[in-house]
Amino acid sequence: MRLSNIGNIHSIETMGLLDGPGVRTIFFLQGCPLRCQYCHNPDSQAFEYKRGMSPEETVQFAKRYQPYYGKEGGVTFSGGEPLAQMDYLLETLPLLKDQGIHIAIDTSGFTDYEKLKELLPYVDLFLLDVKAFSDADYKKVTERSMGPFEKFMETLREENYQGRVWIRHVMVEGWSDSEDAMDRLWKTVEKLAPWIDQIDILPYHTMGVDKYETLGRTYALEDVPPMDKDRAKELENYVNKKLEEAKAGR
Ligand code: SF4
Repeated sequence: MRLSNIGNIHSIETMGLLDGPGVRTIFFLQGCPLRCQYCHNPDSQAFEYKRGMSPEETVQFAKRYQPYYGKEGGVTFSGGEPLAQMDYLLETLPLLKDQGIHIAIDTSGFTDYEKLKELLPYVDLFLLDVKAFSDADYKKVTERSMGPFEKFMETLREENYQGRVWIRHVMVEGWSDSEDAMDRLWKTVEKLAPWIDQIDILPYHTMGVDKYETLGRTYALEDVPPMDKDRAKELENYVNKKLEEAKAGR
């Protein structure tokens, strides 16, 4: 087996309920090209070796929990950026599919787009993280350009992706907690409307901030309070209404 086909795993969560539908096993993959200011898993960012797992081991692990998946659940690959480990995914996903397991990928869209085309038939659902709605803001939030995110959306459309997409956006007070920002979020993703089932607004929280201290790093959002959950819900409803209208052709 080629070494690149071994997954570099940060951690595994069993019985997860937040990253996709139903009960899921979540493989958090190590390494991410972005540097989001609010990242609550800074220890998953570095491309350093954590724990190797072969495609076969991954499937064996996922199968142990298969009785809990029911009709909706399955496996989610999150991170870090899971699409940074394409060779591992290209070998693992077909094996999971052979077992009839639903597959979701939580991504910011940064990847190798030729390999992405090969992977698409095996992915049932993308949880697509939208960090910001302009290149300038994207750079401020992630230290990276928005181009790869746009390219990801373009690839799904061009390849006539057969799965579904859930949009996710972390809402930070003073950054995107307004109807105007939700209008811009919608404009950013509206070309994917036929694929999108829902838009999830994730209120910014401060859990994980202590990890920065452990890593000897400064936390950029030190003085930013957690996002008000009720307001985030209100704005989530607002932007989902736009999705409903688009689907109804209004
Ligand atoms: S994409 Fe996710 S893992 Fe990567 S820096 Fe941003 S929040 Fe952290």
